[in-house]
Amino acid sequence: MSTPQIVAIDGPAASGKGTLARRLAAALDLPYLDTGLLYRATGRLVLDAGGNPADPAQAEAAARRLKPENLDRADLRGPEADMAASQVASIPAVRAALLDFQRGFGAAHGAVLDGRDIGTVIFPAAPAKLFVTASLDERARRRFLEVTSKGLDETLEDVRREMAERDEADRNRAAAPLRPADDAVVLDTTTLDPDAAFCRAMEIVRERLA
Ligand code: C5P
Repeated sequence: MSTPQIVAIDGPAASGKGTLARRLAAALDLPYLDTGLLYRATGRLVLDAGGNPADPAQAEAAARRLKPENLDRADLRGPEADMAASQVASIPAVRAALLDFQRGFGAAHGAVLDGRDIGTVIFPAAPAKLFVTASLDERARRRFLEVTSKGLDETLEDVRREMAERDEADRNRAAAPLRPADDAVVLDTTTLDPDAAFCRAMEIVRERLA
């Protein structure tokens, strides 16, 4: 049996990894999974029940009862869902509960997955790994444009502060901290538009999958 083609795309919030991963999946004709949605939907289930996303028992129970349709909810973005996702994501039992689903998703036909630990924990043997990043100012600017276009009332300063807090938590947690895998190629998109980022990513991935 040939090894499934796994493309692992990790990086901080608003680095451009989601757009890039979706385009790579379409170009390579591979299934795509936004793994952040798993943590967002888990956090949302805890909030729905009036619970605390930082509570390990509540968060693990939510991760274990997650169903595919929970990922289609319209309320998985925004400051409240961002923080709840980051809180549940720091709990090892939550990460363990979501591991098999992610591995199963890619195992059969290959996949492009984006997240924080795809290249380090979920698929450490993936042939193609990208760590997509950009400066905090640029990422805050992008996220600010996104939230204001949806009519949310937040200042650039709020967005920047919340993003810096979430990055800090994701980088410094004990369980699967955000960091590039040793064999990942770092792609800094600070000065790249989405097309330029895609072209560069495609070159790297084609080389790695060849
Ligand atoms: O990628 P996104 O911003 O949607 O992820 C939301 C949160 O989920 C992140 O801040 C991070 O804490 C967590 N996450 C994670 N591991 C992943 C994907 C997301 O810890 N593979």
